[in-house]
Amino acid sequence: MPTLSFLRPSGRLRLAIQAALTIFCLYAGYLFHRHVLWLGGGTEIFTPKPPSVEAFLPISALMAAKRFFLTGQWDSVHPAGLTLFLAFLLMAVALRKGFCGYICPVGFISSMVERLGRKLKTGRETGPLATRLFTIPKYVILCGFLWFIVIGMDVRSIESFLSARYNLVADASMLHFFLSPSLTTILVVAALLVLSLFIRNAWCRFLCPYGALLGLFAIFSPIAVNREKDTCIACGKCRKACPAGIRVDEKQRVNSPECIGCAACLEACPVEGCLTMRAGNKAIPFKAVGISCVALLLAVYAWALATGHWTSEIPADMLRRVYMMQFGQ
Ligand code: SF4
Ligand code: SF4
Ligand code: SF4
Repeated sequence: MPTLSFLRPSGRLRLAIQAALTIFCLYAGYLFHRHVLWLGGGTEIFTPKPPSVEAFLPISALMAAKRFFLTGQWDSVHPAGLTLFLAFLLMAVALRKGFCGYICPVGFISSMVERLGRKLKTGRETGPLATRLFTIPKYVILCGFLWFIVIGMDVRSIESFLSARYNLVADASMLHFFLSPSLTTILVVAALLVLSLFIRNAWCRFLCPYGALLGLFAIFSPIAVNREKDTCIACGKCRKACPAGIRVDEKQRVNSPECIGCAACLEACPVEGCLTMRAGNKAIPFKAVGISCVALLLAVYAWALATGHWTSEIPADMLRRVYMMQFGQ
């Protein structure tokens, strides 16, 4: 029977959390598929929409966040989307890019391919200059979104987008995109998967604008890996273990926007106490980041549910009419 003994404890914890949340996402996706089937008249059995699918609408959430900060008005179309978006930003500030390390299902797929690359010994390190150059695209894409939405859109145009037919059923469009990908999408995804066998986590490190945004917030996190220069024997094992390709052995404190708090470097280090995860000056257990991310997510969910920041107030029948108009059924 296959075991996970090849993984260190931090890897096993990470894998367990990632796998559990990915299974949850798949289940939510299945329920949402049933819901969309009802919206399109494919069945008369009504399945309520799982609000958590709104996590896949970051652009709508970014607009809703801007409106919230300017007017105090919470988004009533995709309230869970705004709740989760702000929760992930808070998570980044508090717990580094723990969202990418433990929560995001795309990150899970990316880390599985990265592990496969390690097993096949195809994964290569990129040099410092190449790493910097490859990192530019995700910030360019992020700047485009921030420029267009945070700077370019006023409250009126945001409101007209958020109440537009397209946005009301944007999650259904997203589902169609996932279930019926175009040939171009399939080719791009396949190319990214192959690329990730050679360059660790290529999508996450170099192309994902959401990860770039979280990384910028994570710079303010009190949590970081620290290296004791005096005891370091310069073996480079931490650098080799790092899924984010960070040169841990050259840093005293890893304050990189790429660090996902996975603790792989800590466990690879042969010198006890040389690398530690710290919150400010206090050493914390390696499990703290992953467990705290899940705890924060559950706490935010409970708060949103109790205070009406989770479920949309739009009646299902109205959404059904909008869906029919949008998709012409
Ligand atoms: S970089 Fe993007 S895709 Fe990767 S784990 Fe983070 S949010 Fe998910
Ligand atoms: S620096 Fe350490 S904790 Fe951060 S991503 Fe790399 S291996 Fe994980
Ligand atoms: S693994 Fe530990 S001892 Fe080796 S280079 Fe990294 S910090 Fe130094």
